[in-house]
Amino acid sequence: EVPKPYNEPYLSYAPGTPERDKLKQALSELRAKEVEIPVIIGGKRIFTGRTQDVVMPHNHKHKLGVVHKAGPEEVKLAIASCLEAREAWANMPWEHRASILLKAADIITGPERYRANAATMLGQSKTPHQSEIEAVGELADFFRFNAYYLTRIMGDQPSSPKETWNRVEYRGLEGFMFAVTPFNFTAIAGNLPTSMALCGNAVIWKPATSSVYSSYFVMEVLERAGMPPGVINFLPGDGADVGDAVFADPNLCGLQFTGSTGTFQRMWHTIGSNIQNYKTYPRIVGETGGKDFIFMHPTADVREVSVAALRGAFEFQGQKCSAASRMYVPASKWDALREDLLAEVAQIKMGDVEEFDTFMGAVIDKKAFDSITQYIDHAKGSDEAEILAGGRYDDSVGFFVEPTVILTSNPRFKTMEEEIFGPVLTIYVYEDDKLDEALTLCDTTSPYALTGAIFAKDRYAVTMMADRLRHAAGNFYINDKPTGAIVDQQPFGGGRASGTNDKAGSMQNLLRWLSARSIKENL
Ligand code: GLU
Repeated sequence: EVPKPYNEPYLSYAPGTPERDKLKQALSELRAKEVEIPVIIGGKRIFTGRTQDVVMPHNHKHKLGVVHKAGPEEVKLAIASCLEAREAWANMPWEHRASILLKAADIITGPERYRANAATMLGQSKTPHQSEIEAVGELADFFRFNAYYLTRIMGDQPSSPKETWNRVEYRGLEGFMFAVTPFNFTAIAGNLPTSMALCGNAVIWKPATSSVYSSYFVMEVLERAGMPPGVINFLPGDGADVGDAVFADPNLCGLQFTGSTGTFQRMWHTIGSNIQNYKTYPRIVGETGGKDFIFMHPTADVREVSVAALRGAFEFQGQKCSAASRMYVPASKWDALREDLLAEVAQIKMGDVEEFDTFMGAVIDKKAFDSITQYIDHAKGSDEAEILAGGRYDDSVGFFVEPTVILTSNPRFKTMEEEIFGPVLTIYVYEDDKLDEALTLCDTTSPYALTGAIFAKDRYAVTMMADRLRHAAGNFYINDKPTGAIVDQQPFGGGRASGTNDKAGSMQNLLRWLSARSIKENL
């Protein structure tokens, strides 16, 4: 049996360490030269001339390069390339496919570690620590654990009574697959196309334009690791330009998406309305929005809740599907929590991530900035809400939004209900004797069910609350923040409007990209 991999340990980049110097050097190297990011089809670089600037979110005058965008013509070429590549790839013994991912993980955690980190810092305004966790650690974990899960799937064979030999043969599906990846995690961007490819499928990968800088970096690492031409075709571009041509093709056999609920529903709808044209029913996996909660019981520890709220809501600038964005606090604890939390939030340093001591960088782009700040303005203009901390924003240099805490008297206030995808936490204080009602609110206020956290010291309260909130979160945390799932420790994904819950980084996820043939042979 193949031994289980380990989770990649993180480097600290503490002052005075050689790692910090190496990361600084990687940052200045990357900063110094503008890149031209191509479309990549069948291993060939295509410069379409339809370009868009790639800039740093925390300093948007600084151009990192340009990206060439794909359109329907390139989609056609990419589909042809997938169909040409897929057979040899699917027939390759799976161990060889797995070894490419293991190699890619070694490149990212070895020689390219600092550039992997730096590319995500610059392109997505993440702090060194945030980038280390996800663009290095989590990405390598996805590669290594998925390779390991595949060995387990392949080894799980049916029983064979005497004189027969039964087996199940797992192959990629017939056709090509489509991976559409989000800006917020380099690890997710890398995981979606590779998990499909690992299983023997050829893939069109459409990375988010706003984070294409690090996605291109991952694509180059995959090429270096030996991913054959045509197995993953890299098609940055606008959603409709790429998507419409993909969905219209009868050979589409899988979609894996992380992003907004609205986009996922539109894609599903398009696939549904085209269903009689496909040769194979396309497998559909999506991880979409979240409106993740922290629910504090009267027996909870104030300090623990305060730290969880701070980290859950504001790390990664709140740009996580899992970010804590609504909180329920019992009246008996509110004064103490308010004091502790506001003191913590006042300490947060936001700014240029290259200074190395910031806790938060900028949000990804102008669109995100405008959308988040509209929610803040809505709270400012309402007599049902009060801004307790933050509330200011400034996009003159970078897209900076202060960590913002809102108190509302209306448990169904807009910022309690809708996904904001930014550093905004809304708090509702419930009367201690209305605990039951507050739990119902927590369960029913948003259509999402991605992550959630409960805090209580009383064990009966823990079991009762876990029971009441059974379907409210696919990743459920007890006395911990609702973010920071680690591959192979907390498989990640949610239900309801948050997705199909085919946990990222799991056997269950890989099984979606495999077609099983049961074979019975008489001996
Ligand atoms: N897996 C991440 C976490 O647990 C969140 C990923 C996402 O935002 O989609 O915090």
